[in-house]
This record gives sequence, structure tokens and C-alpha cells, in this order.
Amino acid sequence: MITRRRFISKISLAALAAAIFTGGGPWMKKALAQAKAGTERVFSVVKGGYVPMEKIERLKEEWKKILTPQQFNVLREKGTERPFTGAFWDSKRRGIYRCAGCELDLFSSEHKFDSGTGWPSFWQPVAPENVETEEDRSLFSLRTEVHCPRCGGHLGHVFNDGPKPTGLRYCINSVSLTFAPVEE
Ligand code: FE
Repeated sequence: MITRRRFISKISLAALAAAIFTGGGPWMKKALAQAKAGTERVFSVVKGGYVPMEKIERLKEEWKKILTPQQFNVLREKGTERPFTGAFWDSKRRGIYRCAGCELDLFSSEHKFDSGTGWPSFWQPVAPENVETEEDRSLFSLRTEVHCPRCGGHLGHVFNDGPKPTGLRYCINSVSLTFAPVEE
């Protein structure tokens, strides 16, 4: 005799098999998207906790309309601003640095340090989930590229020569960031 639970699980399995066999319907795509959205979370400084994250995808032409030419070059084409020229390399103001492409919280002034490189440098992001990294083999070297997990915008690179406690140096383009000061 088949128990009720077993019967239900058999039905679910049959539905899943049918869905896989037929390539899945819109309902399945929606369910998969929701499952994915549920697992992707980012830290919100304002909310003081984790929130679900929806990715932002725009066409190149759309980004061009939203961003300045320099922001477009760095965020969307992985350019690099000249050192000692950006708005934040020597800033000591207290606040949160956000993605210039989508306003996601990325770094805090609490984790900023003077690296002497001419780019704003941080020893950690506001949360591990708030940045993504990728191997970068350009310029005849192996570096670790850092980008925004929400809009995919290029931020800079991360190196292993940073200060304690992490030993990391997130070397970030000012132009990839906006700054929200904390009220003192
Ligand atoms: Fe972003």
C-alpha cells in the first residue's frame, strides 16, 4: 500500500520528470528563478541585515544613457582610472561606498586604508556576498578582478598584500563608486 506522502512524492517526481522531458514550462522557469533569487542575498547597511538580491541586466546602449563616459569605460568595459585622480583615493569621510551602476552597498569607510596607490583601498567589503571576483589574465599577469554581484559592473582588483586582519587589498576605482556619508 502506498502511503499518502509517498503517493505525493511520486506525483511530484512524475511532474518533474515530465517537465524535464518537455523542457519545462514557464512555471518551472519562474520557480527556478525564485529559487535562485532566494539563495542570492546581499547585506544592506541601512537595514542592518541581509536582503534578497535581484540582478540588474541592461543593454550596452541603456548603460551608456545612465552612466557618464568614464563610468561606462570603467564599469562596463573594465577600464581603470588614472591613480591619484579619483574622488575617493584620499577621502577619510565616514560613510558607505556604493556601486555607481546600481547603488548596491559595497564598502565601508571603516575598512578603508591608505595604500599609497592612488586608488581607494579597503581590506574587506561590507559583506562577502556584496562583491564577486573572477580570474583576470589580461596585461600579461594573473590578477583577481572584483565586480558588483548585482549589475556586473567592474570595480577593480583584489590583492594579497593588504593589512590585517584579512591581508587583502581591494583596489577600487573611485569612478565605480558613489558615497553616502553617515550623519555625525
Ligand atoms: Fe552594481
